[in-house]
Amino acid sequence: MTTHHETGTATTHHVLILGAGYAGLAAAIQLAARTKGREDVQVTLVNPQERFTERLRLHMSATGQQVGEMNIPELLEGTGAGFVRGWVTAVDATAKIVRIDDNRVLHYDTLVYGLGSVADTAAVPGVEHHAYTFNSVQDAELLADRLARLDSGTVVVCGSGLTGIESAAEIAERRPELNVVLLGRQEPGAAMSPKPKAYLQAALARLGVRVRTGIEVVKVLPDSVELAGGENIAADVVLWTSGTRVSPLAAAAGLTVDERGRVVTDAALRSVSHPDVYAVGDAAAIRQGYGVMHGTCQGGMPTGVHAAVSIVRALNGKQPKPFRFGYYHTPVSLGRHDAVVQFTHPDDSPRRVYLTGRMAARYKETVTASPWPTYGRMKKMPASGAFWPRGGRFTRIRGVR
Ligand SMILES: Cc1cc2nc3c(=O)[nH]c(=O)nc-3n(C[C@H](O)[C@H](O)[C@H](O)COP(=O)(O)OP(=O)(O)OC[C@H]3O[C@@H](n4cnc5c(N)ncnc54)[C@H](O)[C@@H]3O)c2cc1C
Repeated sequence: MTTHHETGTATTHHVLILGAGYAGLAAAIQLAARTKGREDVQVTLVNPQERFTERLRLHMSATGQQVGEMNIPELLEGTGAGFVRGWVTAVDATAKIVRIDDNRVLHYDTLVYGLGSVADTAAVPGVEHHAYTFNSVQDAELLADRLARLDSGTVVVCGSGLTGIESAAEIAERRPELNVVLLGRQEPGAAMSPKPKAYLQAALARLGVRVRTGIEVVKVLPDSVELAGGENIAADVVLWTSGTRVSPLAAAAGLTVDERGRVVTDAALRSVSHPDVYAVGDAAAIRQGYGVMHGTCQGGMPTGVHAAVSIVRALNGKQPKPFRFGYYHTPVSLGRHDAVVQFTHPDDSPRRVYLTGRMAARYKETVTASPWPTYGRMKKMPASGAFWPRGGRFTRIRGVR
């Protein structure tokens, strides 16, 4: 059911979107484009900065490479959507208000919760104070500044997942005089099939990255990291990429969350406890036939689009449709001229098909560069953003159509 607030003489349904990341921005553009000209709907996007955080390029920013600056209010121009610059400090899901750090209070009829995720700096003592992270452009620039002042020494990258691999490769390529050590529980590319995994590991070796796996980091100190078992690895710089956590705001608001604090959604991406709240991207726990989705840009943007389409359907008195998404690739950069692209089944398990080398690097760059032009296209043609693999039998949940 949709409700409307009286504002002046018009009745307006306020949709508030929290977080202008890959998912929240997709929701805002879609919704604004699909409700353009309607006086009964007002869309407002809230984000702490006007600059879009291109997370897929943070490892490039961290090695001093210039990346483009994308301005969110400029993107929204002409769409009718409003932009509020601010940090959300609380959501009151009963009163349907959101509090901003400058004491503003924003009302909503429908909320889209897209606050994303950040590196889990609470995972191990010392990370908060002694390790660099990739939560924002500012974080990446701090690391770039530190690396620029380091003539020799050791950079320890904690976390052998995709962010750790890409970061270690990028640093080793740009700064061959530094020792780069990649520490993790699992071998790099563990989820890939044998050939692309072997390629990836050989590329790291060629770049001079020393990989140690089966490792449990238990503490980060000012000049070293401590491993379970007591070994210390000297480090001039530590980058923490292991694990993510989400904002505590959803749990504090009383929304049903999973064990990681993500908003548990129904098939249409609405909070199971508060159906006037949609959750998208990394902040949402979205169940598909293969399990709960994990945070990626490839899956995050479709969630934003789907939430917008569902809200418009609800405004028009129709039932929203279930969201379905199947993964299709895992592209991993290995510096600027090399990469591996593992194509996947919809449940993210590896197919036999993969790309390596310059062709893979070009593929990865195309993927990384694509969100912003996609948003631009969606402003004029919202349907152009509504294509993604639905995952066939992999994403079907019994009883959900
Ligand atoms: C270095 C790195 C490389 C990556 N590479 C890939 C890749 O190659 N492919 C891929 O698919 N995925 C990749 N990912 C994962 C991908 O970036 C995330 O899955 C994606 O950003 C999730 O989008 P989102 O919109 O949910 O959240 P985010 O992009 O994190 O956006 C959340 C937004 O909410 C804002 N926000 C947070 N808290 C508040 C608050 N309290 N008040 C107001 N605003 C707030 C943030 O500032 C941000 O703008 C990478 C991640 C990192 C860190």
